[in-house]
Amino acid sequence: MIRLYNTLTRNKEPFETVVPGKVGIYLCGPTVYKESHIGHMVGPVIFDTIKRFLIYSGYQVTWVVNITDVDDKLIGQQHERGIPMSEIAEEMTIDYLNNLRALGVDQIDHMPKATEHMPGIIEFTQSLIAKGFAYASGGDVFFDVTKDPSYGKLSNRNAEDQQGEGGGAASKKRNSGDFALWKSAKPGEPAWDSPWGRGRPGWHIECSAMSKALLGETFDIHGGGLDLMVPHHENELAQSQCCHDKPMVKYWLHNGLLRKGESAGKIGGRSDRDPLPADAGGKLSRSGGAGGLADEIARLTGERIRFFLLRTHYRSTVIFGDDGLEEAAKSLESFYGYFERFHKISKQRYFNLAAPQTRKEGDSVKGDEPLLKGVQQLRANFLEKMDDDFNTGGAIAELFDFIRELNKFANENNLDRFAEVKPDEFKQVFADPQVKTLVKATTVLRELTLMLGLFRSTPAKRSGGDSLSPKLMDLFVALRAEARAKKDFATGDRIRSGLTEIGVTLEDKKGVTEWRAGGSS
Ligand SMILES: [Zn+2]
Repeated sequence: MIRLYNTLTRNKEPFETVVPGKVGIYLCGPTVYKESHIGHMVGPVIFDTIKRFLIYSGYQVTWVVNITDVDDKLIGQQHERGIPMSEIAEEMTIDYLNNLRALGVDQIDHMPKATEHMPGIIEFTQSLIAKGFAYASGGDVFFDVTKDPSYGKLSNRNAEDQQGEGGGAASKKRNSGDFALWKSAKPGEPAWDSPWGRGRPGWHIECSAMSKALLGETFDIHGGGLDLMVPHHENELAQSQCCHDKPMVKYWLHNGLLRKGESAGKIGGRSDRDPLPADAGGKLSRSGGAGGLADEIARLTGERIRFFLLRTHYRSTVIFGDDGLEEAAKSLESFYGYFERFHKISKQRYFNLAAPQTRKEGDSVKGDEPLLKGVQQLRANFLEKMDDDFNTGGAIAELFDFIRELNKFANENNLDRFAEVKPDEFKQVFADPQVKTLVKATTVLRELTLMLGLFRSTPAKRSGGDSLSPKLMDLFVALRAEARAKKDFATGDRIRSGLTEIGVTLEDKKGVTEWRAGGSS
């Protein structure tokens, strides 16, 4: 039974969907006026994993992430860069999508753009006016927070505490907490026709209109960074419930924010509206000359960042800095190390193992061997953690035990002896009962890591330093071969002895030179 923490009730509740078997998820997406940074990736990685887990658990899931492509910040960029807002939005949307892909986020079903939902936004606004919850004032339209008796229930705040946006328009508002549903356009600003004159929508109404259009008036999960709760989610909630007179969302999920290194600069989900403070870089920022997020991902690998983000419970703050990333790299190495060992023993690639796609399918994998019983218990623990408010961090901790068990089994049964077997004797390997058990147990690991969106394919590179070493070694081996071919044995020997000094051994086998580091294979 899945239980999740609902911000609205401040309780962990059993997960019961609006329509049995189906789940609708809405996650507030970026305002595409600048290149994305790591803070923008937290929500997508978490919800990508949540969706995978829900599908795995048997649900049919629709996940929506909106794109805010009209906004004060975008208009500011238009003035600054002298190119149309739509071009800036398109450029930054592509950047955002590339970064999502690099982190393995590929489960989003719809990415609606605000500019493509103008009729729905205007209709929504009209309906709020008709019901007495909103009023037009000098080309703007405002939501009247005093008309909604439950306003502030998500964050437990009163309407009086609320300072609505649109400071310059304060005189047009009835109450200071009222917020804009529609903003009149100044000359030269992008604008759309409306019953209130030319203008553009407020940010909050976009999400209410788009979630309604794609997920209906009441849907299951609404997600976003903790910093979006006030006022954005509060306002979405007020608009939708006043308009439809029914609950907007069953479960509100808020992820913790990401901080960079030791810096105090919060860069959570809403950070698109509050650009990174100049000092919020730590060692990994653009200011350090490392380029944008794409370069950062290329340097660290998407898998490492995804793994790093999932090691923390989604409601906790994430400290994105060298220490944590270093630890993530080490952890990944223990997985990659096992996958290589597994390949040498079983002659099968971890990344090619056909694992169960659903929980039900996985439940049916049984075996009497102690190893299989052990991993089934670890799998049960893993799923228990995921069931408990999507505790990916706790679940990943079980995977370390998993790797330990598999390695222990390989050690105790001396399975590394199969590494030496020649291809014409592979049949014996495949028929070995202990290898079979190892493959079966490893397939259970594959099932769980796939569900997290991890280790889906051969790593493009392991980590910064490690990826270079094999290439450099190949270069040395090639140079030595060239020297020897020219009968320049002095240079050939110089290369070999130099490598020996730094702990690399070269072995000439049947015309092929192999190298290994650390003295023993
Ligand atoms: Zn939103």
